[in-house]
Amino acid sequence: MLALMLLSQPVQAFEVMVKDSGAAMRWPSFPVAWSVNAQNNAGLDPNMAAVVAQRAAEAWEVDGTAVKLSYLGTTNARTSGHDGQAAVYFVDQEWPWDESLLAMTSSYSDSSGAFLGFDIAVNTRDHDWALDGNSELMDLQNTLTHEWGHVLGLGHSEHDELATMHASASPGEVHKRDLSQDDINGLFQIYAAEVDIPMAGCTAIPKSPKGMVWLGVLASILLINRRRASS
Ligand SMILES: [Zn+2]
Repeated sequence: MLALMLLSQPVQAFEVMVKDSGAAMRWPSFPVAWSVNAQNNAGLDPNMAAVVAQRAAEAWEVDGTAVKLSYLGTTNARTSGHDGQAAVYFVDQEWPWDESLLAMTSSYSDSSGAFLGFDIAVNTRDHDWALDGNSELMDLQNTLTHEWGHVLGLGHSEHDELATMHASASPGEVHKRDLSQDDINGLFQIYAAEVDIPMAGCTAIPKSPKGMVWLGVLASILLINRRRASS
Protein backbone atom coordinates (compact mmCIF):
# COMPACT_ATOMS: atom_id res chain seq x y z
CA MET A 1 0.00 0.00 0.00
CA LEU A 2 2.72 2.40 1.00
CA ALA A 3 4.80 1.48 -2.02
CA LEU A 4 1.88 2.03 -4.32
CA MET A 5 1.22 5.42 -2.83
CA LEU A 6 4.83 6.44 -3.20
CA LEU A 7 4.92 5.34 -6.79
CA SER A 8 1.87 7.41 -7.57
CA GLN A 9 3.38 10.58 -6.23
CA PRO A 10 5.78 12.81 -8.13
CA VAL A 11 9.23 13.38 -6.74
CA GLN A 12 9.61 16.84 -5.34
CA ALA A 13 12.88 18.60 -5.97
CA PHE A 14 12.01 22.26 -5.80
CA GLU A 15 13.06 24.51 -2.95
CA VAL A 16 11.58 27.79 -1.86
CA MET A 17 13.51 30.73 -0.45
CA VAL A 18 12.90 31.76 3.17
CA LYS A 19 14.12 34.46 5.55
CA ASP A 20 16.10 33.76 8.73
CA SER A 21 12.77 33.97 10.55
CA GLY A 22 11.41 31.14 8.43
CA ALA A 23 9.03 33.43 6.53
CA ALA A 24 8.62 32.36 2.92
CA MET A 25 9.77 34.90 0.36
CA ARG A 26 7.12 35.87 -2.15
CA TRP A 27 5.67 38.78 -4.05
CA PRO A 28 2.63 40.03 -2.13
CA SER A 29 0.94 41.25 -5.29
CA PHE A 30 1.23 41.36 -9.07
CA PRO A 31 2.06 42.71 -11.55
CA VAL A 32 5.76 43.12 -10.83
CA ALA A 33 7.26 45.73 -13.16
CA TRP A 34 10.73 45.41 -14.66
CA SER A 35 12.97 46.80 -17.39
CA VAL A 36 15.91 45.72 -19.53
CA ASN A 37 19.26 47.34 -20.11
CA ALA A 38 20.13 45.34 -23.20
CA GLN A 39 23.38 47.17 -24.00
CA ASN A 40 26.24 44.69 -24.17
CA ASN A 41 29.62 44.10 -25.75
CA ALA A 42 28.91 40.44 -26.29
CA GLY A 43 27.43 40.79 -29.76
CA LEU A 44 23.84 40.21 -28.66
CA ASP A 45 21.30 42.24 -30.60
CA PRO A 46 19.80 44.52 -27.92
CA ASN A 47 16.28 44.40 -29.31
CA MET A 48 16.28 40.62 -29.52
CA ALA A 49 17.87 40.31 -26.09
CA ALA A 50 14.97 42.34 -24.66
CA VAL A 51 12.48 40.10 -26.45
CA VAL A 52 14.19 37.01 -25.08
CA ALA A 53 14.05 38.44 -21.55
CA GLN A 54 10.29 38.93 -21.98
CA ARG A 55 9.81 35.38 -23.25
CA ALA A 56 11.69 34.09 -20.22
CA ALA A 57 9.43 36.06 -17.87
CA GLU A 58 6.26 34.92 -19.64
CA ALA A 59 7.17 31.28 -19.03
CA TRP A 60 6.30 31.82 -15.37
CA GLU A 61 2.88 33.38 -15.94
CA VAL A 62 1.20 30.05 -15.35
CA ASP A 63 -2.57 29.62 -15.36
CA GLY A 64 -3.86 29.13 -11.84
CA THR A 65 -1.42 31.64 -10.36
CA ALA A 66 -1.60 35.43 -10.27
CA VAL A 67 1.99 35.74 -11.48
CA LYS A 68 2.34 38.69 -13.85
CA LEU A 69 5.72 40.19 -14.77
CA SER A 70 5.11 43.44 -16.62
CA TYR A 71 7.77 44.67 -19.01
CA LEU A 72 8.21 48.45 -18.89
CA GLY A 73 10.76 48.78 -21.69
CA THR A 74 14.42 49.66 -21.67
CA THR A 75 16.42 51.41 -18.96
CA ASN A 76 19.96 52.65 -18.41
CA ALA A 77 20.09 51.01 -14.97
CA ARG A 78 23.03 48.69 -14.51
CA THR A 79 23.41 47.99 -10.82
CA SER A 80 22.27 45.35 -8.39
CA GLY A 81 21.51 47.90 -5.67
CA HIS A 82 18.04 48.22 -4.20
CA ASP A 83 17.36 51.29 -6.30
CA GLY A 84 13.66 50.85 -6.94
CA GLN A 85 14.31 49.86 -10.54
CA ALA A 86 14.15 46.16 -11.26
CA ALA A 87 16.32 45.47 -14.29
CA VAL A 88 17.83 42.71 -16.38
CA TYR A 89 21.28 43.87 -17.45
CA PHE A 90 24.58 42.62 -18.84
CA VAL A 91 27.99 42.83 -17.17
CA ASP A 92 30.78 42.98 -19.77
CA GLN A 93 33.65 44.01 -17.51
CA GLU A 94 33.43 44.12 -13.74
CA TRP A 95 31.58 40.98 -12.74
CA PRO A 96 31.67 41.01 -8.92
CA TRP A 97 30.77 37.37 -8.36
CA ASP A 98 32.38 34.04 -9.14
CA GLU A 99 33.40 33.78 -12.80
CA SER A 100 31.71 30.39 -13.16
CA LEU A 101 28.32 32.01 -12.61
CA LEU A 102 26.27 32.65 -15.72
CA ALA A 103 23.95 35.11 -14.07
CA MET A 104 23.05 36.46 -10.66
CA THR A 105 19.68 37.45 -9.28
CA SER A 106 19.74 39.88 -6.36
CA SER A 107 16.54 40.12 -4.37
CA TYR A 108 15.34 42.45 -1.63
CA SER A 109 12.59 41.67 0.84
CA ASP A 110 11.11 42.97 4.08
CA SER A 111 11.02 41.08 7.39
CA SER A 112 7.79 39.32 6.44
CA GLY A 113 9.43 37.85 3.33
CA ALA A 114 7.59 40.16 0.93
CA PHE A 115 9.82 40.97 -2.04
CA LEU A 116 10.56 44.66 -2.55
CA GLY A 117 12.77 44.53 -5.61
CA PHE A 118 15.26 42.57 -7.66
CA ASP A 119 17.87 42.74 -10.40
CA ILE A 120 19.19 40.10 -12.78
CA ALA A 121 22.81 40.45 -13.92
CA VAL A 122 24.04 38.36 -16.87
CA ASN A 123 27.74 37.50 -16.98
CA THR A 124 28.87 38.48 -20.49
CA ARG A 125 32.43 38.90 -19.25
CA ASP A 126 33.19 35.23 -18.66
CA HIS A 127 30.68 33.42 -20.89
CA ASP A 128 29.72 33.51 -24.55
CA TRP A 129 26.03 33.81 -25.30
CA ALA A 130 23.55 33.19 -28.07
CA LEU A 131 19.87 33.87 -28.55
CA ASP A 132 19.17 30.90 -30.81
CA GLY A 133 20.33 27.83 -28.89
CA ASN A 134 23.70 27.67 -30.70
CA SER A 135 25.24 24.42 -29.49
CA GLU A 136 28.57 26.03 -28.54
CA LEU A 137 27.21 28.98 -26.60
CA MET A 138 25.08 29.63 -23.55
CA ASP A 139 21.47 30.31 -24.39
CA LEU A 140 20.22 33.58 -22.92
CA GLN A 141 16.56 32.58 -22.70
CA ASN A 142 17.48 29.29 -21.02
CA THR A 143 19.39 31.14 -18.31
CA LEU A 144 16.98 34.03 -17.87
CA THR A 145 14.02 31.68 -17.41
CA HIS A 146 15.98 30.12 -14.53
CA GLU A 147 16.75 33.52 -13.01
CA TRP A 148 13.09 34.54 -13.14
CA GLY A 149 12.39 31.52 -10.93
CA HIS A 150 14.68 33.06 -8.30
CA VAL A 151 12.91 36.40 -8.70
CA LEU A 152 9.66 34.63 -7.83
CA GLY A 153 11.13 32.94 -4.73
CA LEU A 154 12.30 29.56 -5.94
CA GLY A 155 15.67 28.09 -5.02
CA HIS A 156 17.44 25.29 -6.84
CA SER A 157 15.94 21.93 -7.80
CA GLU A 158 19.02 19.91 -7.04
CA HIS A 159 17.52 16.50 -7.79
CA ASP A 160 15.64 17.24 -11.01
CA GLU A 161 18.12 17.74 -13.83
CA LEU A 162 15.37 18.64 -16.26
CA ALA A 163 13.91 21.37 -14.06
CA THR A 164 14.34 24.98 -15.08
CA MET A 165 15.49 25.55 -11.49
CA HIS A 166 18.32 23.01 -11.69
CA ALA A 167 21.48 24.91 -10.78
CA SER A 168 23.71 24.14 -13.76
CA ALA A 169 23.49 24.50 -17.53
CA SER A 170 25.48 23.42 -20.58
CA PRO A 171 26.27 25.16 -23.87
CA GLY A 172 23.36 24.86 -26.30
CA GLU A 173 20.94 23.85 -23.57
CA VAL A 174 17.43 25.21 -24.16
CA HIS A 175 15.16 22.94 -22.11
CA LYS A 176 15.07 25.39 -19.20
CA ARG A 177 13.10 27.76 -21.45
CA ASP A 178 10.05 25.61 -20.64
CA LEU A 179 9.05 24.87 -17.06
CA SER A 180 9.08 21.29 -15.83
CA GLN A 181 6.35 19.91 -13.60
CA ASP A 182 8.68 20.37 -10.64
CA ASP A 183 9.03 24.09 -11.40
CA ILE A 184 5.27 24.45 -11.70
CA ASN A 185 4.76 22.58 -8.41
CA GLY A 186 7.17 25.02 -6.75
CA LEU A 187 5.40 28.01 -8.23
CA PHE A 188 2.06 26.72 -6.94
CA GLN A 189 3.59 26.07 -3.54
CA ILE A 190 4.35 29.79 -3.28
CA TYR A 191 1.47 31.41 -5.14
CA ALA A 192 -1.43 29.00 -4.83
CA ALA A 193 -1.04 27.77 -1.26
CA GLU A 194 -4.31 25.88 -1.28
CA VAL A 195 -2.93 23.41 -3.81
CA ASP A 196 -1.58 20.34 -2.04
CA ILE A 197 1.81 19.22 -3.34
CA PRO A 198 2.49 15.54 -2.62
CA MET A 199 5.78 14.82 -0.88
CA ALA A 200 7.96 11.84 -1.71
CA GLY A 201 11.52 10.76 -1.17
CA CYS A 202 14.03 11.17 -3.95
CA THR A 203 17.45 9.81 -4.69
CA ALA A 204 20.49 11.97 -5.03
CA ILE A 205 22.56 11.21 -8.12
CA PRO A 206 26.14 12.35 -7.57
CA LYS A 207 27.30 14.34 -10.53
CA SER A 208 30.51 15.96 -11.51
CA PRO A 209 30.27 19.71 -12.02
CA LYS A 210 32.96 19.41 -14.69
CA GLY A 211 32.00 21.14 -17.88
CA MET A 212 28.98 22.69 -16.25
CA VAL A 213 28.47 26.28 -15.31
CA TRP A 214 26.23 27.58 -12.61
CA LEU A 215 23.20 29.74 -12.34
CA GLY A 216 23.43 31.93 -9.31
CA VAL A 217 21.22 33.54 -6.75
CA LEU A 218 22.65 35.92 -4.19
CA ALA A 219 22.97 33.54 -1.27
CA SER A 220 24.28 36.15 1.14
CA ILE A 221 20.84 37.74 1.13
CA LEU A 222 18.71 34.68 0.70
CA LEU A 223 18.51 31.47 2.64
CA ILE A 224 17.33 28.36 0.94
CA ASN A 225 14.80 26.17 2.66
CA ARG A 226 15.81 22.67 1.76
CA ARG A 227 12.53 20.86 1.27
CA ARG A 228 13.69 17.64 -0.26
CA ALA A 229 13.23 14.52 1.78
CA SER A 230 16.34 12.63 2.78
CA SER A 231 17.16 9.82 0.43
ZN1 LIG B 1 20.10 29.62 -9.82
